[in-house]
Amino acid sequence: MPLSDLWFDPALCLIDGRWQPPASGETLPVINPSDGAELGRIARGQAQDIDAAVAAAEAAMAGDWGRSTAVERGRLLTRLGQLVLEHVDQLAVIEAHDVGKPLTQARNDAVALARYCEFYGGAADKVMGETIPYLDGYTVYTLREPHGVTGHIVPWNYPMQIIGRSVGAALAMGNACVLKPAEEACLTALAFADLAVQAGFPAGSLNVVPGLGAEAGAALSSHKCVHHLSFTGSVATGRLIQTAAAQNVVPVTLELGGKSPQLVFADADIDAALPFLVNAGIQNAGQTCSASSRILVERSVYDRVAEEMAKRYAALRVGPAMRDLHLGPLISARQKGIVSGFLDKGADLKILARGEVVDDAPAGGAYIAPTLLADVPPDHCLAQDEIFGPVQVLIPFDSEDEAVQIANGTDYGLVSSVWSQNGARQMRLARKLKTGQVFLNNYGAGGGVELPFGGRGLSGHGREKGFEALYGFSTLKTVAALHG
Ligand code: NAD
Repeated sequence: MPLSDLWFDPALCLIDGRWQPPASGETLPVINPSDGAELGRIARGQAQDIDAAVAAAEAAMAGDWGRSTAVERGRLLTRLGQLVLEHVDQLAVIEAHDVGKPLTQARNDAVALARYCEFYGGAADKVMGETIPYLDGYTVYTLREPHGVTGHIVPWNYPMQIIGRSVGAALAMGNACVLKPAEEACLTALAFADLAVQAGFPAGSLNVVPGLGAEAGAALSSHKCVHHLSFTGSVATGRLIQTAAAQNVVPVTLELGGKSPQLVFADADIDAALPFLVNAGIQNAGQTCSASSRILVERSVYDRVAEEMAKRYAALRVGPAMRDLHLGPLISARQKGIVSGFLDKGADLKILARGEVVDDAPAGGAYIAPTLLADVPPDHCLAQDEIFGPVQVLIPFDSEDEAVQIANGTDYGLVSSVWSQNGARQMRLARKLKTGQVFLNNYGAGGGVELPFGGRGLSGHGREKGFEALYGFSTLKTVAALHG
């Protein structure tokens, strides 16, 4: 897919409602992970461009956008959601080429992006304050107000979904956004911005500056006129972002991934669980913050679950994104190196099953066969560290207490699930598991646009998605009137 076929120019930034080249005129390559070929170039935005984008956002806050009503913002987001829906097929093809996501999965992301716009469009005018009973002669009430300029630094694994949940909620609350997409995956961010202009978002309300993390990303996260930061990505970068936010004393939402477990008890409906157990590990080639990379199984059903999962793994096929197989390539040769490095560290472990990279997959693609490992000690680095590739570990347990101990025994705490038909156990474990989401007899709940999402521990803090995100993207003001 030549980038000249796109309906927008990918080598530009959107600043103050105008598409413009970066001040330096420099560009970065767009690599198709399915074959390693350069598709075209995107802008290499730097500090000067971030300064211009933040200034445009400040001007928007001081102008019509800052005075917009919640109803108007809701209508704009709803219109944007409609435009996204009308472009779902193009967005899916762009994403498949840019990040190597199998076409069906890319399409699901585009539909989810539309859904975020619809959800936050509908929610914009339903965020309310409260009146607070206070002393005689007072009336006290609270207002939810935008932070002002919000910075959004997003990763390459789910560009459309993460932009939808982060920028969608921020715009609904009336913030003006500066978005720095990941250098590996800018195209759908630019497409989204173009659709936002078409939907009628005023100049400066949404600005997009592609560029490198250490340049545009660092400039945005340390900018003194940014009032809130939202980041999804690695723990290492999250620490840098939080440090930068601390210097300016601004709030930050961090979503840093996980090592999410599914707990399978002997009384579970195992046939119902199996597709969830596998899909939650291999979706998007395992490059999912909420991937379920640890499968904990009660010993009496361990062999059966292992055998059934192995059968499913053996049937998995990996190939170019446009072939729309179970898995596409990883995002880059670098990511393939990271995942291969983990598998090397697990050379002592038992490989139960592997999927297959199709014979005619291009040699330049970042392909890796999905791998299921058995009997993995819970303290092994493959059972502790986020791999961000299609690798799942099976861990047996003998009691409910041991299962909880293993599940809570990593530094992460994003998502977990419990497979059991025992209602009391479901309720007990829902309380005991130290994760931001717990699923009972399911995993991932259909994308979960409406469901608050975020972590504990190294998985980060703050909540995105659902209505809850609107609180994160706003600041609460208390008004106390003494009227006698
Ligand atoms: P990363 O954290 O480096 O990149 C994520 C975003 O942060 C990108 O937009 C990047 O440009 C930006 N960034 C990088 N350095 C920055 C800096 N100094 N200041 C400001 N912004 C900066 O992630 P990566 O290098 O693309 O991937 C490495 C690992 O991160 C993966 O192997 C995976 O474990 C993890 N990861 C997690 C998620 C997630 O959803 N939790 C997403 C992507 C990557």
